[in-house]
Amino acid sequence: TPRVFSGIQPSGGLTLGNYLGAIKRFVDMQDSGIQTLYCMVDLHAITVWQDPAALTRNTRELAAGYLAAGIDPARSILFNQSQVPEHAQLGWIFNCVARMGWMGRMTQWKDKAGKNAENASLGLFGYPALMAADILVYHATHVPVGEDQKQHIELTRDIAAKFNHDYGVDFFPMTEPVIEGAATRVMSLRDGSRKMSKSDPSDMSRINMTDDADAIAKKIRKAKTDPEPLPETVEGLKDRPEARNLVNIYAALSDQSVEAVIAAHAGAQFGTFKPALVDLAVDKLAPISSEMARLMDDPAEIDRLLGKGAAQAREIATPILQKTYDIVGMVRS
Ligand code: ATP
Ligand code: MG
Repeated sequence: TPRVFSGIQPSGGLTLGNYLGAIKRFVDMQDSGIQTLYCMVDLHAITVWQDPAALTRNTRELAAGYLAAGIDPARSILFNQSQVPEHAQLGWIFNCVARMGWMGRMTQWKDKAGKNAENASLGLFGYPALMAADILVYHATHVPVGEDQKQHIELTRDIAAKFNHDYGVDFFPMTEPVIEGAATRVMSLRDGSRKMSKSDPSDMSRINMTDDADAIAKKIRKAKTDPEPLPETVEGLKDRPEARNLVNIYAALSDQSVEAVIAAHAGAQFGTFKPALVDLAVDKLAPISSEMARLMDDPAEIDRLLGKGAAQAREIATPILQKTYDIVGMVRS
């Protein structure tokens, strides 16, 4: 049976990249008739240092972001990873299936560990094995993600295939990434070669879901661009990463194709396109951020929802983990 799983780290505030590349598409998938599970992956967040109070707050704020954007706890299972211990338990088994060489080739590892790999946490190196467990502990078949996570989904398939092969079973499914739409890779507003990230040290590089209208206007106005007007055709965006990024954001926020946005704004200067983008962004994001603020006034209610979601998630995860233990040969009494 098809099943959707995806997660977001509470490693900072939500960005426009997380919204367009992930949450907005999670919301759409609720209408697909397929069971959907959405997670706050707090165990992943601590692969780099998180201040405990900030982690707590970011987890609740991420839950508020999911809810404000339209994730419906009556239709989706919404929970935080550490309340479902089966993730970490299956993650350990996958640590013993995955190979060091596979992990060392992951671009996220290279980007995040940088030149100082000696000093990175072991958890950061093993991140993709836990991510494979997040997905496969539900036998999830479809994982909506941004472009940057494609390599990790491929590794999830490699882990599933090696487990199935090593134990001579056909147990874990081959998961498909779902990477669709105009905004699968929203770029930094300061550097068209880097993706927008919640952990980027520069706040001007990203739009946060909690930014007010003035902050959104300032960041888009100051976004790096080239001096040319918008092209007449989509091909004209080639080799213009910053221009392409703003057009992609416009398209995704307005639910239009990139072609339609270019057709409507062909030849426009950024002096007119940027204010149009500001209006659109404020229009779409302000209702979400005000709903987030409202939900954050009642953290106990958020915690209650997450506890309920975790119990529902465990109902699916527990039998799959138990079956995995049986396959591996663990004695259970
Ligand atoms: P961090 O910098 O801590 O890794 P992040 O912004 O990359 O944070 P994640 O929690 O790692 O966020 O990713 C959550 C989801 O958001 C993933 O599906 C990821 O592919 C997607 N995503 C992250 N950044 C972008 C982006 N710039 N454009 C589109 N999707 C994105
Ligand atoms: Mg990331």
